[in-house]
Amino acid sequence: MSDTIRRTGSCLCGGVHFVVSGQPLRIGLCHCKDCRKAGGSVFSAYAVWPREAFEASGIVSSYGNRSFCPTCGSRAAWLDDDEAEVAIGSLDVAPTDLVPQYELWVGRRENWLHSFPEAEQFEHDRPGLPNADAVEPRPLSDVG
Ligand SMILES: [Zn+2]
Ligand SMILES: [Zn+2]
Repeated sequence: MSDTIRRTGSCLCGGVHFVVSGQPLRIGLCHCKDCRKAGGSVFSAYAVWPREAFEASGIVSSYGNRSFCPTCGSRAAWLDDDEAEVAIGSLDVAPTDLVPQYELWVGRRENWLHSFPEAEQFEHDRPGLPNADAVEPRPLSDVG
């Protein structure tokens, strides 16, 4: 497994470092309220790895599943028992080779942004996931 790709990332001040190994499970863009508020940008671009593929060092604070550097405020990762979601912008190398496969909450997308080519478009969260708003999620391609 020595040829497994490893991507490194860090926070702005360098107090938190992390490594993700192997290819991500999925790559997405999200325009939801939480992503906008948490990052301060108008959408988030992230990739999700199995939890065991993620290793971090340094001190983090957390808010729910979201972790961040308490010194500089940069987001670190969104973690649960199964998965680690990493903001693509926190990786050390740019540009990355990570291309979004889907786009969530597209109704909240800024009017000056366009849908991302070849990314599956969803009105809300991905189908099959718990959705706090309890709105029936479905791909826009299924709507008329
Ligand atoms: Zn920091
Ligand atoms: Zn979101």
